[in-house]
Order: sequence, then structure tokens, then C-alpha cells
Amino acid sequence: MRVAVFGAGYAGLTVARRLERWLPEAVDIVVVDESPSHLVQHELHRVIRYPDLAETLTVPLGEVLTRATVRQARVTGIDPEAGVATLEVSGERESLEYDFAAVCLGAETAFYDLPGVEEHATPLKRLDHAETIRSDAFDSAGGHAVVGGAGLSGIQVAGELAALSDSEGLDLDVTVVEMADRVAPSFGESFARAVRQELDARGIAVETGATVERADEDGIGLADGRTLSADLLVWTGGIRGPDALGGERRPVNADLVVGDGTFVVGDAGAVTDEWGEAVPASAQTAVREARIAAKNIDRLVRERRDDDGERARLATYSFDSP
Ligand SMILES: Cc1cc2nc3c(=O)[nH]c(=O)nc-3n(C[C@H](O)[C@H](O)[C@H](O)COP(=O)(O)OP(=O)(O)OC[C@H]3O[C@@H](n4cnc5c(N)ncnc54)[C@H](O)[C@@H]3O)c2cc1C
Repeated sequence: MRVAVFGAGYAGLTVARRLERWLPEAVDIVVVDESPSHLVQHELHRVIRYPDLAETLTVPLGEVLTRATVRQARVTGIDPEAGVATLEVSGERESLEYDFAAVCLGAETAFYDLPGVEEHATPLKRLDHAETIRSDAFDSAGGHAVVGGAGLSGIQVAGELAALSDSEGLDLDVTVVEMADRVAPSFGESFARAVRQELDARGIAVETGATVERADEDGIGLADGRTLSADLLVWTGGIRGPDALGGERRPVNADLVVGDGTFVVGDAGAVTDEWGEAVPASAQTAVREARIAAKNIDRLVRERRDDDGERARLATYSFDSP
């Protein structure tokens, strides 16, 4: 029997490490990631201010997994009905069959085809993005930095840019632009209020209810007709699903299952919890969902192994805090 874990971020590593402990030795565990290391993504913005942190934010997978086989490959497609994934390894395509799987491929930055935004803005998903934002901040001294999108990453990027400006004397004005009527819109109101107070205290300008329509080398254009100049433009305005899932965050219910035994976990899924609430994308929720997915895979492995006619009852996830 083979269990596959696609992606070794927060969700994937949590699933894999639990299954390493729980599953019988006879069950193969394969972890597939395009990178040889885990990225501590929720600290990525800190590299803008402290570039030396980059090394500590990457953890080689071999150091944290004990018995799983690690495959460095790009997942290009997953067929949950057939239990087959398509991988790309050094330009060659191959198939990986599995009995049960956790799809933990995270999310990509969504640019929504807004004219000029992908071309003129830097997203923040990888270390090289953080390094680019840092060097652009130095090049933009005395100017205006605009962050499009006030979700978790956007508010933290804005905070880092303001702090970098203070510590390095860059004299940058920082503005966060958010389409919704408050910052951190996927999270609860009290959390959003606390974030807003913190942004205000740091002198970061906040434009809520402001929809970015386009960008060019001078700045951004808003839907209400205004333009904002930007010497530095960062785009954290949204996420989309991984290409292996057709670019969509796959909708899943609280048991996280699609097909018979494929679980979608973390940012890759658009999860509705057991109370019918949409679950925001965060490292915290990815880890908590992963615990449920690991439990469910363990139950399904036992059901198949015992073959006594007892159907496994799947555990469900409920969101409590970001
Ligand atoms: C700047 C920033 C700050 C953040 N701050 C916070 C915070 O304070 N608190 C919080 O809870 N969350 C925060 N987040 C969000 C958090 O990082 C994500 O929600 C979390 O990483 C999601 O975990 P995941 O396991 O679903 O995906 P990821 O952690 O993104 O892991 C996905 C894994 O899949 C691999 N992968 C992707 N595509 C492929 C492919 N095709 N083939 C093979 N491998 C692939 C990647 O290499 C990666 O290892 C922040 C995010 C950013 C960018």
C-alpha cells in the first residue's frame, strides 16, 4: 500500500510526520516536493529586514522526515478518482500511483489578470521575492511603497517596510491598499481591529475599500479613479490554487476528502468547516487541517488492512482561531 503526500509545507510535513509514526512499516510513505527543503513561509517577510534569516527559514526535508521516501519533483496533475499523480522530474513526465494521498501544494499568488500588476509588482511567496523587495526598498529611499492586499502577508510586509525604513533611515512612506472595508478581511473583526491599530501606530497609511485596477511604472490605478504613485509595489492581493489542481483552490468539506481517499489540505483547498464556515488560509489552519487528514488516512489504511466490513468514520475539521 502507498500513501503519497504532495507538498512539504506546513500541511504536508504535519501529515507526513504523523503518518511516519502511525502507519505500519509495510505502508510506503512518499513525500513529493519540488524543493529539497521546507520553507518557513510565515516568517518570509522578516527577510526583508533581516536577510541573514534566509538560511534559518529553509529546513532540508531529510532532517525532519525519518522514514518517508522524499521525491524531488514537480506535481503537474492529480487524478483523485484514479489515485494517480503526474510528476515532472528533470523534464521527464512520470506517474505515481497511490492508495491514499494528502494534497498539500499550497497556493500561488493571484494577479487576477489586472493589467500591469504582475509585471510591475513583486509578490511574496519565495525567498528571492523577499530579497528583491529589500533591495527595491533601498532603491526607493525617500519615496512611496505601496502594498496591494491587506491579508496576513500584506500587513506583515507593510510592517517590515516601515521598520526597515526607520532602522535604515530610508524615509519611505508605506501605504497598504485593501479592496474590502477592513484589513485582514478573512479573519474575525477583533483580530482585524487589532491589526489596524498596529498599522496606524506604525505610521502606515491604510486605504480600505480601494480596489486596484491596474499598475504601471508610476504606480497603481484604483477603481474609484484615483491613482497612487509607487516607487516600490508589492502584490499580496490574493491567492489561487496550484496549477496541479487547475489553478483553483479545490473546495472541500470538513472531512477534507475528494474521491475515495485523497485529502486536500492547507492553502490548496477552499475548506468549509463542520459549522459551514469558510476557513481562512493560514499556516495555523494548514497544520490543524493536516492533523485531521493524517487521522483520516490512518483510519482508511486500517479499514483496508483489517477488511472486516467496518467502515472508517472520517474526522472533521472545525476552525477556531487564525
Ligand atoms: C509573507 C507571509 C506571511 C505570512 N504570515 C502568516 C502568519 O503570520 N500566520 C499564519 O498562520 N500564516 C501566515 N502566512 C500564510 C502561510 O504561510 C500559509 O497559509 C501556509 O504556508 C500554507 O501552508 P501549506 O502547507 O498549505 O502550503 P505551503 O506552506 O505553501 O507549502 C506548499 C508546499 O508545496 C510545494 N509545492 C507547491 N507546488 C508544487 C508542485 N507543483 N510540485 C511539488 N511541490 C510543490 C512547495 O514547495 C511547498 O513546500 C503567511 C504567508 C506569507 C507569504
